[in-house]
Amino acid sequence: MYRDMIPQEIVHDLVQRADIVALIGERVPLKQRGRHHVGRCPFHQDHTPSFTVTREKGLFYCFGCGAGGNVLKFLMLFENLGFTEAVERLAERLGVVLPRDVGREAASPHRERHLAILRLARDFYRACLGDPRTGAAAREYLARRGVSAETQARFQLGYAPVGPDGLLKFLQERGFGPEEMECLGLVSRTAGGRYQDYFRDRVIFPIWDHRGNVVGFGARVLEGREGPKYLNSRESEVFRKGHTVYGLHLAVDGIRRAGHAVVVEGYMDAIAAHQCGACNVVASMGTSLTREQGRLLARYTREVVIAYDGDAAGTAGVLRGLDLLQELGLEVRVIGLPPGEDPDGVLRTRGLEGWQQLAQEAKSLLEFKLEVAMAGGRPRTIPGKLAVLRQVLPNVARAGSAVAREEHVKLLARELDLSWETIADELKQLRRNDWLFPDKDSKTDYNMITEYDGRGKAEAGLLRLLLDHPGYLDTVRESLGEDFFAYPVHRRIFDEMVVCYGQPGELAHLVLERLAEPAEQDAFLRLLMCDVPGDPEALLLDYMRTIRRGLEREARLKILDRLRRAEEQGDLQAVRSTLTDLQRLLATKGGVRDGRTAERVDREGQEARYPHLRRNHGLPAKC
Ligand SMILES: [Zn+2]
Repeated sequence: MYRDMIPQEIVHDLVQRADIVALIGERVPLKQRGRHHVGRCPFHQDHTPSFTVTREKGLFYCFGCGAGGNVLKFLMLFENLGFTEAVERLAERLGVVLPRDVGREAASPHRERHLAILRLARDFYRACLGDPRTGAAAREYLARRGVSAETQARFQLGYAPVGPDGLLKFLQERGFGPEEMECLGLVSRTAGGRYQDYFRDRVIFPIWDHRGNVVGFGARVLEGREGPKYLNSRESEVFRKGHTVYGLHLAVDGIRRAGHAVVVEGYMDAIAAHQCGACNVVASMGTSLTREQGRLLARYTREVVIAYDGDAAGTAGVLRGLDLLQELGLEVRVIGLPPGEDPDGVLRTRGLEGWQQLAQEAKSLLEFKLEVAMAGGRPRTIPGKLAVLRQVLPNVARAGSAVAREEHVKLLARELDLSWETIADELKQLRRNDWLFPDKDSKTDYNMITEYDGRGKAEAGLLRLLLDHPGYLDTVRESLGEDFFAYPVHRRIFDEMVVCYGQPGELAHLVLERLAEPAEQDAFLRLLMCDVPGDPEALLLDYMRTIRRGLEREARLKILDRLRRAEEQGDLQAVRSTLTDLQRLLATKGGVRDGRTAERVDREGQEARYPHLRRNHGLPAKC
């Protein structure tokens, strides 16, 4: 939301003036290679230099983990800053004075004040835990749970005393009113209308945003006391549970080093993990991960390992959350904990090594979902098998690469005792169906980028070319229309280029800003880091020709499909009109210019009319 508070022109101006190679070079050793600078990526464990910076475009991109963006994005990731802070840092570096009302205070007049209250509350709870008398029971509890003093300090653990209004008075003495405390869920009103502390006689776990600001609290009841086991701060202007990943700012370095994040459910699990040295662990505070939580994680890693209690892991809410992560382009794996076991217990009994072993052996999302789907036993009937297959096929379709997809298909064939072809066939059907990609416009399959066919290559090449020569946009639209892409991600990029063209600022940066999904940004940056391989005009014509051929082929197949259905139904009239359509299509310039094409259409037409021919050719029955 701060994004809107700083005038766009100022941001664009700063980004344009910054020397991205110099700024990144101060933090990451870079070497010049051709027109780019390359180095080892600071955001994942990089053995080969996959990290590329281009001064010309003012962008960086890692071919290993997909991290990329402009100089502000780099500062946000590397220094763990928010957008506004990154702008301020960059302005400072360039000696630019930002207008006064720019910045966090402007976003919300209360925000700074609320954060100050929460900081003070944390300090109050900390002091109570340290107090020899007041905090004794809580310290004993934490000692029994094996939480060391260092860990208590690192996670800023505290204790809310029994007293009815200790915190209330503490904050009032510092000039804050009970209404604002109530707003943040720190105090509540009794039936008689008096204010009192909301958390009483509980161990306190501060909850932070990803920058380390305290935004709320979790509170656990002491053993042997009454009341619900856990209480959370209510949601407020600064705290939204579904937008928060517990411990993220403490785990960022660990995540980078490990190359993946591990997500557990509760605070205690995350804390125990860090104490053992597993510093890439965060908690989701509930088992149903949200899209916002996924986006936060995707800022720092491409791979997420889930470690929930065995009992909770297979529930519908959890599975939906895992699908969401996959949809965001993250690779998802699941640690299968036995029922009744939690990460805290595993760490205590098996130590760091045992834990890392489990993480290493984590199942792929598909294996895990298959296990859940077959919890009642292996299906024996065809309908039973298909029911299982359809539950997991969307995950196969979204899998990371062609290789992963093939592995998945093999696994399914083995587990369900179906032929490889049957599964591949179902998969093909599914990929054709819209329900797999319900919000087509915002979602993409960035992985397709690594396995382009000729059409995909032409689309990508065309987009790359247009970024350098946006003047050709009109030519392309006149010749091919608006909706000629076979790859949804390409259509997204093209649409944004059309929108951004002509606006002030570097086209690539404007487009990048508008691409919301990590997968889209990834595809776009990958594209940008390629060079245009020759004479632009010749390439343009070549790409357009390839795409047009693809479109024509699609149109023909559609008509042939219609023809086949009409014949199957014995609808002579439909057959006749479809044949006319086909002739008309072939008579168009594009259709007859290419002799081979006409010949192929004829063959396909024959095959459609005499299905047994296809079988003789060894073609799959439905393709
Ligand atoms: Zn990387």
